[in-house]
Amino acid sequence: MPRHGRRIRAGGANTERSPENAAMKATILHGGSDLRYETVPDPAPGPRDAVVRVHACSICGSDLHAFHGKHPRLTFPRILGHEFAGEIVALGSGLRGFHVGQRVCCDIDFACGECGPCRAGRGNICEKLRTMGFDRDGAYAEYALVPDFNLHPLPDNVSYDQASVVQVLGISYHAVAHRVLPKPGEKIAVIGAGPIGLGAALIAQLAGAEVTITDVLDYRLDKARELGIAGSINARDADMRARALELTGGAGFDKVVECVGGLQERTVTDAVSMVKRGGQITVVGTFPENRATIPIAYIKDREIDLNFSRGNFQAFKPCLELVGSGRIDPERYISHRFPLNRAEDALKLLEARNVEAHKIVLHPQEAG
Ligand SMILES: [Zn+2]
Ligand SMILES: [Zn+2]
Repeated sequence: MPRHGRRIRAGGANTERSPENAAMKATILHGGSDLRYETVPDPAPGPRDAVVRVHACSICGSDLHAFHGKHPRLTFPRILGHEFAGEIVALGSGLRGFHVGQRVCCDIDFACGECGPCRAGRGNICEKLRTMGFDRDGAYAEYALVPDFNLHPLPDNVSYDQASVVQVLGISYHAVAHRVLPKPGEKIAVIGAGPIGLGAALIAQLAGAEVTITDVLDYRLDKARELGIAGSINARDADMRARALELTGGAGFDKVVECVGGLQERTVTDAVSMVKRGGQITVVGTFPENRATIPIAYIKDREIDLNFSRGNFQAFKPCLELVGSGRIDPERYISHRFPLNRAEDALKLLEARNVEAHKIVLHPQEAG
């Protein structure tokens, strides 16, 4: 008998594989841009871990940073992938409350529980934070190891593809619900119509805000409109201050949410130019380098509040409710699906920006 009672379906029958000879396929980053599809040992669960058969893992912009070796906490070799859902196939001896065969969606952060921020209830800014897909192995793999505190049961009507987008939707949720704090009727601009910006715009709109979303790519703004986001601006050649004043009776937006990040500095500058006197800016985008600059005197003289949002925090449950109830349907912005051995093609497609890519999902149980 295998130590963990693990059963793997093979050839249509339940066949037991011992941990000694069990091997899975995974896509592993060995260094900047050195991504390999390989066979590695199956993960073996510790007492409080579940082994999750990964059915869907969506690709994140930060996977691209990682692929280029530019994520600050990335170590090698590393199985990437941190937005995923699947089915429990094995349980550690001490894991209670879950069962083999259960469909789950998985959080990825490991907070220490002991540092100052953790004790203050802010585990997402833990001093010793570790994250699957960066400094722990992730889910560009047939199986992933997930501890009980990161497992979230899936409602029956939420598909694995939809559930794979819940982690990133949770970034939008944490940003909007805990940091932006929208009020009904507030005029809010969301900069960036990628998955995080779309999620933030939808969640702010559900809270009653009047939302305008901006991007430099028309197809993304088309998608935002299709999803029901009321206002949009193509920022490519626009004078963003002039447009902001035009849309807000000359005052500027009450709040601006920056959801782009990346290597460029423009979006933070745009946010400052678009917000009203006494308004608030929340920066959600991820910056692999400290390149953004801010006009400190301008911000000070107008008492503009500037805050930041990191990661998905206490957001899986509310986001699964948003998806399960149909108020947000991530299926509507999943544009591509790839088998696991084509992860590199998928990353390059996301980067190329010459195709209309929104969310791209890998299916680790399918061979290419
Ligand atoms: Zn991500
Ligand atoms: Zn901590």
